[in-house]
Amino acid sequence: MNRHLKMSSMVRTFLVIGDPIDHSLSPNLHNAAFRDLGLDCTYMAYRVLRGELGAGIESCKRIGAAGFNVTIPHKVEVTQYLDELDEAAASMGAVNTVAASDRILKGYNTDRDGFLDPLRRRGISIGGASVLLLGAGGAARAIVAAFAAEGAGNVAIVNRTLPAAKSLADFAEASGLRAEAAGLEEAGCLAAGRDFIINATSLGMQDEPSPVPASSLSPDSTVYDIVYKPMKTDLIRKAKEMGSTIVYGYEMLLGQACRSFEIWHGMEAPYDTMKRALLGGLP
Ligand code: NAP
Repeated sequence: MNRHLKMSSMVRTFLVIGDPIDHSLSPNLHNAAFRDLGLDCTYMAYRVLRGELGAGIESCKRIGAAGFNVTIPHKVEVTQYLDELDEAAASMGAVNTVAASDRILKGYNTDRDGFLDPLRRRGISIGGASVLLLGAGGAARAIVAAFAAEGAGNVAIVNRTLPAAKSLADFAEASGLRAEAAGLEEAGCLAAGRDFIINATSLGMQDEPSPVPASSLSPDSTVYDIVYKPMKTDLIRKAKEMGSTIVYGYEMLLGQACRSFEIWHGMEAPYDTMKRALLGGLP
């Protein structure tokens, strides 16, 4: 057999599926890791529209993809197309990573571990902590699961749409946390004295002001904004001004990508290489 053809038939293909997908940073991250480790793999973005997920997954199978990441709007619906779910994905009802082996598709959720990764790297303990969480969407659900898994004490969930906050508070209670729900306008008074203040809304992406005032932040709190573009949101700037410990959204993105890499390749991800690739792609 032609040597070139033989080699290319061994290339393992990975994808990220979603819509919009053009600006996904995942291909930069994973391709940088492949180059660094000399892996014969490639990673591409594949636009799959809402309503076309079944056909999109069939295409992934037909090209023999070894795995794929799943992003907005498919993280919940994709569970219907999978053969197995790991414990984190099953408890959240959402998947962001799929591994394919012998035509079996197994779904994982690496957002929970990805969120925890920068806290672990800083040695910040979570046991018994008091948390204010802004947002009640998919990422907020993974964050509730993360705090529950690490034995946090209580969480106040504030959201623009109150029923969504109440529903997430029910999930938090079922996961073992004490929880309350409120509207976003309560963020200021509920922030004071918390160990963690987390933004998991889209607020900040357009440089909007955070509903949390600087006066509610202190050097004792850890402020974590999962918005990664821009890196320095209004909340991050206020946290810096007040001397809080800061965690940037890109660190969660990096953490979840490293975890996906480890699931697919069974080896430690090259964190520093992937971090450089990510920061090179951020303004
Ligand atoms: P999602 O499921 O669509 O949830 C969006 C959340 O933002 C909801 O709580 C929504 O409130 C709130 N929101 C949207 N626009 C708002 C506005 N104008 N004012 C106030 N609240 C608003 O999305 P998601 O997947 O959870 O993502 C949320 C954010 O996290 C996005 O910015 C995303 O880029 C970021 N993210 C980062 C990472 C990372 O690795 N760093 C991972 C996942 C997501 P309603 O319920 O009222 O609509």
